[in-house]
Amino acid sequence: MQKESLLNPGSTIGIIGGGQLGRMLAIAARQMDYKTIVLDPDSECPAGQVADGQIVDAYSSRGASRDLARAVDVVTYEFENVDADSVSAAAELKPVHPSTTVLRITQHRLHEKNALLKAGIPVAPFQPVESLKDLRDAASDLGYPMVLKTSTMGYDGKGQIIITREEDIANAYDPLGRNNAELIVEQFVPFTMEISAICARTAAGATATFPVSENIHRNHILDISIVPARIPDGIALSARQLAVDIADHLKVVGLIAVEMFITKENEILVNELAPRPHNSGHYTMDGCNTSQFEQLVRVLTGMPITEPRLHSPTVMVNLLGEIWEDTGGDPDWARALEMPGVSLHLYGKAEPRRGRKMGHINVVADTVEDALYTATEARNRAWRRSSEF
Ligand code: AMP
Repeated sequence: MQKESLLNPGSTIGIIGGGQLGRMLAIAARQMDYKTIVLDPDSECPAGQVADGQIVDAYSSRGASRDLARAVDVVTYEFENVDADSVSAAAELKPVHPSTTVLRITQHRLHEKNALLKAGIPVAPFQPVESLKDLRDAASDLGYPMVLKTSTMGYDGKGQIIITREEDIANAYDPLGRNNAELIVEQFVPFTMEISAICARTAAGATATFPVSENIHRNHILDISIVPARIPDGIALSARQLAVDIADHLKVVGLIAVEMFITKENEILVNELAPRPHNSGHYTMDGCNTSQFEQLVRVLTGMPITEPRLHSPTVMVNLLGEIWEDTGGDPDWARALEMPGVSLHLYGKAEPRRGRKMGHINVVADTVEDALYTATEARNRAWRRSSEF
């Protein structure tokens, strides 16, 4: 365990991973005059473009993560599929937040679900699957439909299959269970809405949550976040409290993003955790007095966190690579930015590919409906498409 200290501006934050989350973290750090050094194998990565320095090497290189730790005052990571052993190597030299214990739990679905269950957090019924027989047995307990997922390296819906009937069991097991991958199967939740809440927690145990986001996915990738979520206040409060309970239980120092389902009985079930800034929290950059990235900088440097306030309804729409492909690489930003309340955030990725997160638009407005209309319209204008409305 490294000694915790208050890090004043001028200190340096090390970020393992150089994607858009690292980039926006580095920008928030720079605002408060903290420096950042990024570890990423791509010398052109989004975070490297704005950081003070970069170590160009693999995330799995223990030598590189030790070099990073030596060069900085505190270390964090911006995605959870990093190599936990190399993060541990950094932790021998400098404080790493959130801890490698939190990282190991959240990078393994089964460990994560077991930890939630132990903490008394509601989750969909699930079972571990180590063989085809386990999956058949689970079906008789869970019923159909059920969702088979790999325990590790799954994101944006990758590594999961919905099984609707007995005849599909073998076909579903085969591709996912190959190479003895560890699997988990869950009851399918016929949710009415997907939401998320992000909690910041300091080393001293202070917590603060951001308003709940209503999330709409397309092709398993987050498409739109609507804030405040269109749910009763009591449900939103419960969701925020669940995020605090999880942060406390796991002793998170940093951010924990909690993805949840709401059922038609208004029950909340936790689906997934991410110990880092989250796509559904990008709205905070324009909608709130403090962003998720600023809160993380505060936690990492031992500074107090602040209670987030939502200034006005805010909607975020993701900008995926298809917009560049469809427009021949030249989206019509001027027409998008003509619309009121629009802020454009681009991640500096040179190669647009379908499904690749290239940026997002935030829109603040007087009402959620206005923000939603403007955000989708602004994206359509950039895309040179006619309106969906
Ligand atoms: P995940 O990778 O676990 O975040 O899942 C990606 C998406 O798949 C979620 O956002 C849901 O839309 C859907 N999904 C995952 N698990 C379930 C489930 N047990 N029941 C219904 N839908 C699910």
